[in-house]
Amino acid sequence: MKYLALIFLLAACGESQKTDPAFSPYIQEINQDLNGHLNIKSTIVFGTPGPRFEATCFQENSVIIVDQEKWKDMTHEQRYWVLLHEIGHCELSLEDSELLGPNGLPTTFMFNPSIQIGLFVEENPELKDFLLAPLRGE
Ligand SMILES: [Zn+2]
Repeated sequence: MKYLALIFLLAACGESQKTDPAFSPYIQEINQDLNGHLNIKSTIVFGTPGPRFEATCFQENSVIIVDQEKWKDMTHEQRYWVLLHEIGHCELSLEDSELLGPNGLPTTFMFNPSIQIGLFVEENPELKDFLLAPLRGE
């Protein structure tokens, strides 16, 4: 119990922002899919990521800002990959890639625009494991 109280105290003193509960199911799903290979620490909130973006990551404080209007219009797969993409920027310092493989599909979850990854995965479900493999250490 002492330990728990300390965690709450630290949380209250530290971060002023907390991840919006809207993102929790997606983070849970990503964590499950990655089998604990990535310890997601970013704070994810709705806000204004900039007119052209669905989401953006501020690496200095590891905060991901998601456009709420665009989020509403996204499918489940799109949301999943947009978040994972931003986590790649925020927590792994990865850069965007615009390359498509010879099969016309993205070769990395850092494909930009990330909102398209979800559509590719919806049409090619086997792509999901391929894109997650490097994150699983495979
Ligand atoms: Zn990006």
